[in-house]
Amino acid sequence: SVVLLGSSVIPIVNKLQDIFAQLSSQSTIELPQVAVVGSQSSGKSSVLEALVGRDFLPRGSDICTRRPLVLQLVQTRRKPDGTDEEWGEFLHLPGKRFYNFNEIRKEIEAETVREAGLNKGVSDKQIRLKIFSPNVLDITLVDLPGITKVPVGDQPSDIEARIRTMIMSYIKRPTCLILAVTPANADLANSDALQIAGAADPDGLRTIGVITKLDIMDRGTDARNFLLGKIIPLKLGYLGVVNRSQEDIMMNRSIKDALIAEEKFFRSRPVYSDLADRCGVPQLAKKLNQLLIQHIKAVLPGLKARINSSLVSVAKEHASYGEVTESKAGQGALLLNILSKYCEAYSSMIEGKNEEMSTS
Ligand code: GDP
Ligand code: MG
Repeated sequence: SVVLLGSSVIPIVNKLQDIFAQLSSQSTIELPQVAVVGSQSSGKSSVLEALVGRDFLPRGSDICTRRPLVLQLVQTRRKPDGTDEEWGEFLHLPGKRFYNFNEIRKEIEAETVREAGLNKGVSDKQIRLKIFSPNVLDITLVDLPGITKVPVGDQPSDIEARIRTMIMSYIKRPTCLILAVTPANADLANSDALQIAGAADPDGLRTIGVITKLDIMDRGTDARNFLLGKIIPLKLGYLGVVNRSQEDIMMNRSIKDALIAEEKFFRSRPVYSDLADRCGVPQLAKKLNQLLIQHIKAVLPGLKARINSSLVSVAKEHASYGEVTESKAGQGALLLNILSKYCEAYSSMIEGKNEEMSTS
């Protein structure tokens, strides 16, 4: 039930990583981080959770995410007998495996309190969590506290500025993909998410607009103009989603059921019927995958150059051995040559894929 699971990127990244593992060099494909930004309770944690396909993040109508959560998904090998395990491990609890995802949520909450107190305090100290699963991409997702204007509880008077600085420190990195989350029942033109994303990514090259809560818009209104980019245009466009309501969360509705309900929602609303490629969590995952493929494509020439330069140095070493043709170095040169060709083949394969996607 992991949405990122259907990803066409996984086999490509795996192959490339296999190649680099054989080269025993540090170079590998580093996938971009994905961070969610937006105002408090806009649905950021809900979106991340739906993308991962597991229930494990604190969510709610009050401020829940009070420290940055850096979530590293780590792909494990699939077991031949099909008994795949998924577990979480926190940096602050090394060696302790959490197989129960409810326990993961409780630990996030407890660790939040340890650092940021019980009274709505916010801290920029990260919580780092790894999720191990055969069903994920090796990608890092960052859940961030929401932008809030009025200090409550233990929050300092400059809470808004502090949170903005914290968010900027993640999203200003040129490799960070930004999911700018705005609820459909708020004014898009005043969106905190789009405002801060625009400050970090003025050309809009790595910002995806995500409109949540399409199910609770004012009667007689819809999000068509948002999704079409008519209010605020965005190069990479918008995706509309329906996540679980607070009631669904209290009733323990599963992510799987929520995805089915989401699909039903869009199917039953004729106003969205011609916007199917912009509606739903699976479409958001698809969009992310396309961006990841573009990223891989962009870094491939650099990786190839590195392979070629190590090829040259191995060849030199080979020459220095004189007549010994069956040497390790000679075999290495041959291997590198083959791998380099392989990389090239992959590059053109990805290109083909992209064309296929852009016409679909
Ligand atoms: P965050 O503060 O931005 O991380 O927001 P959360 O993910 O914690 O969600 C805030 C509240 O909004 C929770 O009670 C969610 O159940 C609710 N929520 C989030 N997305 C949706 C949605 O698409 N529809 C509805 N009805 N409620 C949602
Ligand atoms: Mg949150």
